Amino acid sequence: MTVKEALTRARKAFAIGNVEDARLESELLLRHALRIDRVQLYQEPERRLAPREAAGFWRLVERRLGGEPTAYITGRREFYGLSFSVDSSVLIPRPETELLVDTALEIARRCPVMSVAEIGTGCGAIAVVLALSLPEVRIYATDISAPALRVARLNCQSHGVADRIRLLAGDMLDPLPGPVDLVVANLPYVPQREAYRLGLADFEPLLALDGGRDGLEKIGRLCSKIGDRLRPGGFLLLEIGQEQGGAVTALLRRLFPSARIEVFPDLAGIDRMVVLSLAPVE
Ligand code: GLN
Repeated sequence: MTVKEALTRARKAFAIGNVEDARLESELLLRHALRIDRVQLYQEPERRLAPREAAGFWRLVERRLGGEPTAYITGRREFYGLSFSVDSSVLIPRPETELLVDTALEIARRCPVMSVAEIGTGCGAIAVVLALSLPEVRIYATDISAPALRVARLNCQSHGVADRIRLLAGDMLDPLPGPVDLVVANLPYVPQREAYRLGLADFEPLLALDGGRDGLEKIGRLCSKIGDRLRPGGFLLLEIGQEQGGAVTALLRRLFPSARIEVFPDLAGIDRMVVLSLAPVE
């Protein structure tokens, strides 16, 4: 079997198995099985797979057909054009979360931001991108999960920002040494029943997805404590789920009656982020 044939077979199997992005997923798995990069994959479509390579590749295809995400099979996922280590202790970074990064960077360009905290950092993707893009800013990243922090540490090291990001173990804002200018968080926000119903937690950690009964338990808890963790004029950026914009805005409005609160959609047009911006103290 050649590289080209292996890809075609996997693509067909994925199409039948209702695996999305069949072409990309086949390529990622074949590259992983053969330990080659994208260029090598395209340069040698007629390369013959050794029987052991073919069998190894097909084992990966079968794992994918069984529902395991490709990112966990290969141990890698791209986010913001960078490659991150992932394992089953962390949520796989989603493309829509790049909205949080874009917005944080835009705010940091406009306003004096000296310190940023990412709450619930998981594999550390958001914090790493911010550290790389904002070399002057002090960055904290917290997570309650020790295994997740180990993955985040790996990613900080591989991207050369281990000395720029302080990884802190603990619940949400608790481990922060003091208030910061900007807090960014992609907390668990899926209503518990949905998470089970959709089988979301079959592979990914429930801890990173489960937002309690209405999905807003963790976001609500963070909002209720954010007041004394943001500096005057500070910002809070929260990723939210579909149809949570109204509830989160109302919640923040009660806590911060005179602040600016806005909801932004992602590229698919779905409400994806709430931004709280505290008015500067006169
Ligand atoms: N966007 C993720 C999903 O729907 C949920 C991420 C989260 O809870 N923060 O699978």
